Amino acid sequence: MRELSVYYCPRCGFYAFHCLSKNAICPKCTEEMKLLDMRWQEFMDLDCDKRDALLSGRLISDHSLVSRLAKPYRENNVRQIVANLLTVIEELDEEIKRLERENKKEKETVEWMHKMIWDLVRERKNAGSGKND
Ligand SMILES: [Zn+2]
Repeated sequence: MRELSVYYCPRCGFYAFHCLSKNAICPKCTEEMKLLDMRWQEFMDLDCDKRDALLSGRLISDHSLVSRLAKPYRENNVRQIVANLLTVIEELDEEIKRLERENKKEKETVEWMHKMIWDLVRERKNAGSGKND
C-alpha cells in the first residue's frame, strides 16, 4: 500500500490525506492542493492548534502579498504596515480588474481580502495616531 501524504489547499487551508497528488483537489475551492513536507503520521500526532499554526504559516509563506503584510506586523512597525497595505490594495485593485475578465470565484476571494485589508487599515487608523490625515 502506498503511503498517504498530507496535502493542503493554498487558498483556504483545508487539508486532506492522499496517496496521489492528482487526487489532491480542495473540495471547497476546487484548487489543486499542495504537498506538505511532513509525514502524515507526524501530522496526525499534532493537536488541532498545532496543525492550524503550521498550515497558517504555510498559507502566509505561500502568499507573497500576505507575507509582505506579515513582516511589518511582526516588527510592529505601524507606519510600514499602513504603507504596505496601501500598496497591496493597489495591487489587489489591479488583480480584481484582471480577474474580472477571468475567474469569478478567484475574484470573490480577492475581494474578500481587499475588504479585510481595508478593515485593517481603518482599524489601524482609528487605533493609532490617525489625527493627521
Ligand atoms: Zn480550498
